Order: sequence, then structure tokens, then C-alpha cells
Amino acid sequence: MNKMKVLNEINEKPMDINQLCRKNILELQPYSCAREEYQGKQAIFLDANENPYDTGYNRYPDPYQREVKKKLGSLKQVATENLVLGNGSDEIIDLLVRSFCEPARDNMIVFSPGYAMYEVCAAVNQVEVRKLVLTADFLPDWEEMWRQVDKRTKLIFLCTPNNPTGKVIPLVQIEQLVQTFRGLVVVDEAYIDFTREKSAVNLLQKYRNVVVLQTLSKAWGMAGLRLGMAMADPAVVGILNKVKAPYNISSLTQQTVLALLDRYDEFQKRRDEIVSERGRLLTELRKLNLFQQVYDSEANFILVITPACRKLYQYLIERQLVVRLRDMPPLIPGGIRMTVGTKEENNRLLEVLKQYK
Ligand SMILES: *Cc1c(COP(=O)(O)O)cnc(C)c1O
Repeated sequence: MNKMKVLNEINEKPMDINQLCRKNILELQPYSCAREEYQGKQAIFLDANENPYDTGYNRYPDPYQREVKKKLGSLKQVATENLVLGNGSDEIIDLLVRSFCEPARDNMIVFSPGYAMYEVCAAVNQVEVRKLVLTADFLPDWEEMWRQVDKRTKLIFLCTPNNPTGKVIPLVQIEQLVQTFRGLVVVDEAYIDFTREKSAVNLLQKYRNVVVLQTLSKAWGMAGLRLGMAMADPAVVGILNKVKAPYNISSLTQQTVLALLDRYDEFQKRRDEIVSERGRLLTELRKLNLFQQVYDSEANFILVITPACRKLYQYLIERQLVVRLRDMPPLIPGGIRMTVGTKEENNRLLEVLKQYK
């Protein structure tokens, strides 16, 4: 039998996303926005209790952000029906937990050290978290993970490149997991623009149970606007759309994002500059002989290890350099995460570190 056919049979592409979803969510009759039935622009709108006088913002925004999705869709090479937008990808993490995990019954898997938001959302929603320590080379221990997975495991969160380690999980390993796991694999790619590794987005063509998160907060430089996205099967998109607040992305954000996404050259130039500065910082930090370890990174930050992390942190703060303490035993005791800044900022950081005794 040909390999493709076998794969599809194992994966049962008609995997029922609705069966993974919480029953109350499945049965939920979504709030219907006033303007959903009418698509035109030339009309007298007396349907949404808006103020008729133009302030620039007197009308409610498009609840499905169609214009923004068109542009993002072509940028990311995905259909708009595969996109959900959130008030930052943090909102989407919360939506996933709320939509798929039954409180006090289902569980989800996260890896440590990793992004803390997954656990926070789980705790808010009273969902059990099975937290697994990464291996010494910062990759998931898949065998150990499979021992922790059971019928009630709805979500597995992978972060790649990972925060705060900067390590990428090879795409082949992700595909294997997606192929085998019967729940949703959430691949958080907040830092994907800083690496050469391919996005997991392409897995969407073959599998229903992969959800890829990306954001405009990091490489795109729009953290203040709050715009994150999930790229997922239309069935997942439908569920998240039903649960999200109708007007979760403001008109101001939608308009500004549309304008800034056009500046692709600027985006690329800054991203490349950050990547090149990351390389320089790595080399220079290693020369200092200040750290036990300076880890390679595929993101826009560098993780270093020193037993004196608190003292060093304090020293830097006193010189108005703010870094992030990531003192997370057992894997990264004494960890400090430093974001790559501008060339001048990085020079200042290096200069101050050189004077440290
Ligand atoms: C920064 C970051 C995000 C982005 O969150 P937004 O809400 O989109 O700003 C998501 N995941 C990880 C791992 C991050 O580090």
C-alpha cells in the first residue's frame, strides 16, 4: 500500500474535532452580532445602538476581522478560514483551554522550562497540567510524555523556538506527535520569524489536530497593539470563534495592523538586524567568562547561566539595564534571559557586563 494512504488512514483526517470539544461549547448558541446579517456599507445603521455621530470610532469593528485576515492569510500562505485572531496569542491560549478542557476532569501537557501562560490559563480554568521537564538538550522527552498522556489529555503545548531556552523542536518530531496524538497539538511559534526552521503551518494540509500560534508582538514589533493568531482546521476555528468575545480586536488595532503589515521590507530589515545582533551578542557574551553557559538561540533572546544570577540582575538594574531572571531548576538554575536590543543597547549591555566584578 502506498505510504500516503497508510498515513491518512492512521491519521483518519476526518478526526472529529467536535468530539474533543467540551459538550457545553459544542451546544453553545453563539452571540450573534448586530451587523452579521448585513454586509453592505451604504446603509443607515440603526441596529447596534451605536452613536450616529462620527468620532472615527463610533461603529463596532468587524467581529471576524476580514480585511486583516485577508492580508495575514496571504502573508502566511493560509486560507482565511484557517485563521482566528486574538487579543494577543495569549487570548487564543485561553480560548483553547476553555473550549477543549473540561474543568476538573481533562488535562493538558506542557514542558518546563517553558512559557508560563499555558499553566496560568489552565489554573484559571481549573484544568490539570502535566508538566514535564525537558531533556538536557532542551527537547521534549517523548517517551516520558507518552507515559503521561491518557484519555483525558486534550492539549499538548509545544513552544518552538522555546521561551526561555531559544531551542527549536525539529518539525519531523512535531509531525510524528500530531500523527499519533488524538487531541490537539498546539505549536506556539511566537519566535518563528527569528529561525530558519520551517513553520508547522504546512501540517495543516494533512492533519486536523494541529493548531499553530503566531503573533505580531515579537518580530513584527506590534506588542502594544495586541494581535495574535491561530492557524487551525476550520472546525477548530469555528469553535474558537464561537467562544471568543465578538469584538475582541478593536478598529484601531485592525486599521493599524493593516497599515503596518504593508511595511514588509522594514520588518525584514529589522528582523535580520536582530538575528545578526544575536550572533554578535552570543560571541561577545561567551568571551566575558562571566557565565557557566551561554546557550545558542533561534529566538530574539539569549539564555545565560550563572550561580550569581540574582546579584548580577541587581547590578544590571542599578545601571538601568533590565533583563529577566529565569532561575528555573532543575534545568536552568541561575538562568537569566536577555532580549536582543539595538546595536547600541547591546553595546551598553556588554560594556556594563565587562565592568562587573
Ligand atoms: C511573547 C510570547 C507570546 C506572545 O503573546 P502575545 O499575547 O501575542 O503578545 C506567545 N507565546 C510565547 C512563548 C511568547 O514568548
